[in-house]
Amino acid sequence: MSYRPTIGLEVHAELKTRTKMFCGSKNDPDEVRPNVNVCPVCMAFPGTLPVVNREAVKHVLRVGAAINGKLADYTEFDRKNYFYPDLPKGYQISQYEYPLISGGNLQGVQITRIHLEEDTARSQHTGDGYSIIDFNRAGVPLMELVTEPVIHDALTASAFAKELQLLLRTLGAGEANMELGQMRVEANISVSKTEKFGTKVEVKNLNSFKAVERAIAYEIERQTALLEEGGAVVQETRGWDEKKEETFSQRTKEDSHDYRYFPDPDIPKFRLSLLEEYSEETIRSSLPELPSARREKLLALAIAPEDVEVLVSDVAYSELYTKAVEPITDAGTRKAAINLLLNEVRGKNPNAEALMRIEAGLAETATMFARGDISSAGAKAIVAELLENGGDPAHIATSKGLLQMKDASLISALADEVLAEHSGVAEEVKSGKLEAMKFLLGQGMRKSKGSANPAELERVIKEKLGV
Ligand code: ADP
Ligand code: MG
Repeated sequence: MSYRPTIGLEVHAELKTRTKMFCGSKNDPDEVRPNVNVCPVCMAFPGTLPVVNREAVKHVLRVGAAINGKLADYTEFDRKNYFYPDLPKGYQISQYEYPLISGGNLQGVQITRIHLEEDTARSQHTGDGYSIIDFNRAGVPLMELVTEPVIHDALTASAFAKELQLLLRTLGAGEANMELGQMRVEANISVSKTEKFGTKVEVKNLNSFKAVERAIAYEIERQTALLEEGGAVVQETRGWDEKKEETFSQRTKEDSHDYRYFPDPDIPKFRLSLLEEYSEETIRSSLPELPSARREKLLALAIAPEDVEVLVSDVAYSELYTKAVEPITDAGTRKAAINLLLNEVRGKNPNAEALMRIEAGLAETATMFARGDISSAGAKAIVAELLENGGDPAHIATSKGLLQMKDASLISALADEVLAEHSGVAEEVKSGKLEAMKFLLGQGMRKSKGSANPAELERVIKEKLGV
């Protein structure tokens, strides 16, 4: 029997708020000028006191509600004590016994907890032997989500991280860009031949989804090889070397008791149900449509899974969908709008302004098409014009002669003309040469300058020929 891998993830994500977690300094970790978004609180001057950021609490509660976790009623903040130059207070304010969220599920992966804490400063080691520190990031609200050890392959782990990123973006909780360090994934990995889990290794410094996948795959192989040789896995923290594509030992892992966690005496305890803005009802009713729900809805419309993924996870198209497609009530019209979006808009790689023009005209174009006022070629032409110059779809249809001939007597007259002008071909069709039908249809479309409904014209011509 081969070794079975087990993976649990710990994900940190910076939250989007106006100010930092416990003070009024601006929350802008991407500020390039060092040490401008700082104040005595986040610089840990003696005598300062933290005040909890309500927006940050709400972000975590919303994420928790979205994954169907249990929202805490009682919660408190704790001090996690350790020394490091990027930690000005000598402790990090975090949550230990009473996280804001317990349990939950995202994409089939059970969530253990989500808690709220503060980010550290950024240290940088200069080439000439100095370490310099930028405190812009110190005290930025950070949420930590921990999964149960229920993942068994690298791909599922990175897919989970992507889904979490999408959820955070959908909720407006954060940008969660991994390359920018806005979302950081730590992977705990073990392998075992039995029901009992093996010794786990924690891998840090994973700053892309690819790195998550590769590092996990590497660790599974390393640990398996080690055990097969009769060796043992050491519980430790390892880093990921992007260039060598391998993990390396960083330190043996400390236990939580090494941190001497205790409740922060400077922060009042919370009874969340006492505040309307934190109540489960308020939080739940503030949630937008979640990616999982949208995915299901679109799949039910028989849209191909890869197209559904575009509408769900590509931010620009997902927004366009929300604004221009969602409000359409007629199912056929909505489907037409989705098809135009996927087939006519997306292939043209439109810029932001072109997308705005589409947003304004998409629903009307789809409505005209669903009503039969324009053909699918007409709808395409209107979308192309909207992308290029914008305008009103109805006006574009009129000025470009795209309105379809719907009147039955007009189509009948058109069919008569075609049959009279091409009586030879008409005879061929009558005698069974159905390929020639295409020619007659083409002539009719040309005569009507594309305004005839081709399906209707074909039906009428065939009727007249008795085929
Ligand atoms: P620690 O006390 O070392 O921090 P936790 O029990 O808090 O360990 O788990 C931390 C993370 O490691 C969680 O995501 C959890 O799912 C994962 N984990 C725990 N045990 C294992 C294991 N044997 N193999 C893989 N992952 C594990
Ligand atoms: Mg732990």
